[in-house]
Amino acid sequence: IEAVELYRFYRAGEEETLALRGVSVRVDAGELVAVVGPSGSGKSTLLACLAGLDEPDGGLVRIGGLRLSHRPERERAAMRARGIGMVFQTDNLLPHLTVAGNVDLAQRLAGRANRPYRDRLLAELGIASRAGALATTLSGGEAARAGLAVALAAEPAVLLADEPTGELDDTTEGSVLALLHSRARAGTAVLIVSHSPAVAATADRRVDLVDGRVRDE
Ligand code: ADP
Ligand code: ADP
Repeated sequence: IEAVELYRFYRAGEEETLALRGVSVRVDAGELVAVVGPSGSGKSTLLACLAGLDEPDGGLVRIGGLRLSHRPERERAAMRARGIGMVFQTDNLLPHLTVAGNVDLAQRLAGRANRPYRDRLLAELGIASRAGALATTLSGGEAARAGLAVALAAEPAVLLADEPTGELDDTTEGSVLALLHSRARAGTAVLIVSHSPAVAATADRRVDLVDGRVRDE
């Protein structure tokens, strides 16, 4: 996945904010990249543009060589469902469904129902025993793993994570990070946005955002 010279302006009344000022970032298959930067530096905006949730005002986003930006929302949503997994700080589980039900739904939305893969995934993430549990009954660590299972349900080529370990204790943070690294080694392009220096230190590569620009090394 790559962002090429992204610009994003926000206008609120008289006030204009340049959230991204020509940001280029590329994550290859098999690579884990950390985007770090202070609050307000543009991390969330970059992530939203990479995911096709937001449209840049300038520049473009490509995934697997195909342009994702500047398409109707419906097309972006379809590309996102098939190609991009997203992990959020607050989990992305539907509370009235079980863990397995949440993964099934994500697979169906992508047109990729696959029970054997689902069950392997839950086992790999260490939550097979919680497959039948309602999302509301999970512990913090279990919910983080279940959220990762939903993100990976459709076997996406790209995994985007926004502070994936933000609310976890050190032990759980370590195990979620290990899972993200193992996904990268298996060939997924993984991008993590994080405040945590510990998380950034484990990345293959680190991109520093400052005031909407990538800081040069
Ligand atoms: P973070 O990514 O650091 O967790 P957010 O993305 O929620 O935080 O917000 C970052 C900054 O952007 C904050 O200063 C917030 O006030 C500002 N912000 C977020 N959304 C809006 C909005 N809709 N209008 C104005 N400012 C916003
Ligand atoms: P970060 O995730 O690094 O905290 P953001 O991407 O949330 O940074 O924000 C970058 C800049 O854009 C900040 O100055 C923020 O206040 C502004 N911003 C973000 N979202 C909005 C929005 N929806 N409307 C107006 N300003 C926004």
